[in-house]
Amino acid sequence: MANHGSNGSSDDLTFPLEIPPAKIRFTKLFIGGEFVDSVSGKTFETIDPRTGETIARVSEGDKEDIDLAVGAARRAFDHGPWPRLPGAARAKIMHKFADLIDQHIEELATLDTLNAGKLFSWGKAVDIPSVANTLRYFAGAADKIHGQVLKMSRELHAYTLLEPIGVVGLIIPWNFPSTMFFVKVSPALAAGCTMVVKPAEQTPLSALFYAHLAKEAGIPDGVINVVSGYGPTAGAALTSHMNVDKVSFTGSTEVGRKVMQAAAASNLKTVSLELGGKSPLLIFDDADIDQAADLALLGVMHNKGEVCVAGSRVLVQEAIYDEFVKTLVEKAKEWVVGDPFHPNSRVGPQVNKTQFERVLSYIEHGKREGATLLTGGKPAAETGFYIQPTVFTDVKEDMMISRDEIFGPVMALMKFKTIEEGIKYANNTKYGLASGIVTKSLDIANTVSRSIKAGVVWINCYHGFDIDCPFGGYKMSGFGKDFGMEALHKYLQTKAVVTPIYNSPWL
Ligand code: NAD
Repeated sequence: MANHGSNGSSDDLTFPLEIPPAKIRFTKLFIGGEFVDSVSGKTFETIDPRTGETIARVSEGDKEDIDLAVGAARRAFDHGPWPRLPGAARAKIMHKFADLIDQHIEELATLDTLNAGKLFSWGKAVDIPSVANTLRYFAGAADKIHGQVLKMSRELHAYTLLEPIGVVGLIIPWNFPSTMFFVKVSPALAAGCTMVVKPAEQTPLSALFYAHLAKEAGIPDGVINVVSGYGPTAGAALTSHMNVDKVSFTGSTEVGRKVMQAAAASNLKTVSLELGGKSPLLIFDDADIDQAADLALLGVMHNKGEVCVAGSRVLVQEAIYDEFVKTLVEKAKEWVVGDPFHPNSRVGPQVNKTQFERVLSYIEHGKREGATLLTGGKPAAETGFYIQPTVFTDVKEDMMISRDEIFGPVMALMKFKTIEEGIKYANNTKYGLASGIVTKSLDIANTVSRSIKAGVVWINCYHGFDIDCPFGGYKMSGFGKDFGMEALHKYLQTKAVVTPIYNSPWL
């Protein structure tokens, strides 16, 4: 058993491994309804971040495999049943897919824990049941896709058709392997598209399992293809493919720019981008300090800080700053670092060595730039990629830890005087993904929520997601919403059909 009694000083933690409740079954590419080796025959290793050890070798897709997968998706779109089925028939199969997920919750949660270091308890209770519900939500929309009738003039009449956009490339990151798969696959399925999914190279395992369940549910061959592989090879081949009609990408802002460039340089496919963030949480003088400290920690420590919306900049109004800091340091101890399979753990390991070293190097930058380390700041174990929950105070706006997305359990605390100054600090970022406000004043909440340039504002809460609530960024956090009915419309295109109308009795 891991030691769960502290917030993770490297002296007292030993981290013997908890036993995962399931095995790895699918490691090959899924193309045209079959699991196949990559054309090159190459494989790459996938690791367990609890130990850094290899747990499986997975087929490494490259340009040739993307070609085959796009070909299968093209045939399924141009000649297969999926886009031609009545919406209700697509919905029925999607519901079956969701039911199959419900029957495999433990196994799927295990894969994301083994592969990404995510908390098993959270995966089992929240992430995996939610992806089944995401499928059901969009299944509910599949038979309600319709256009409008337009009365153009006395002589012309028009109606619009909402048609599936075609073959879509879905590129996803490693921090929420299941959630990201389904926020893209579900609306694309409902719209009648066919698709090639490129999971992150760090976390291919659950995506391949979902491909298996899709087939079992009756999704026709070629509708969902999954090609595991690296970004600059398999990912780039998908974004520049002439036979792909749209790419929906979630990942870093840097790669998002490359995706747009590849789309522009190939067939001008449409693109939607869900990118990085450096989200502010503003805590005002009238806030309940206990609640504010809990929200601040939840905002940045949840999923060990590997969250695009992490509230990594915590801005606190000066009258309560000192008391807030005291409370925060006490409460940080509740964020217990440990084996993600253990029910008491709240912070698992970073996804891999690269990410682990990147986060630690930001911590070193923070110290060098003159911020004060309040708590944490070190690896939390001898083995694996565990990092202590870390809080810096005396952070200045121009420090790297205040500007860059760290993607780890690292909080940058800053003080502000007036509401105007708080808003200015909050907006002083190239990103605009999410934000939070803690206050009892309706006036402050209203003013600040309208002043912040971000795709979501959480008032007296954080990480408040629901599939019906649109989610997506402002500024360099991207464009296009991934939740809600707006997401469905990313996979549809509008055709206007116009015809003369003679002798209409009225206009
Ligand atoms: P990443 O950009 O490195 O990789 C994301 C995906 O893109 C992976 O599948 C990768 O293989 C692929 N990729 C890499 N290079 C590519 C290329 N040249 N062409 C095509 N595809 C390529 O990001 P990551 O490290 O996997 O994930 C972390 C980032 O994702 C963070 O910046 C985080 O904020 C962001 N993210 C955003 C959201 C959101 O909804 N806005 C959600 C989760 C993560």
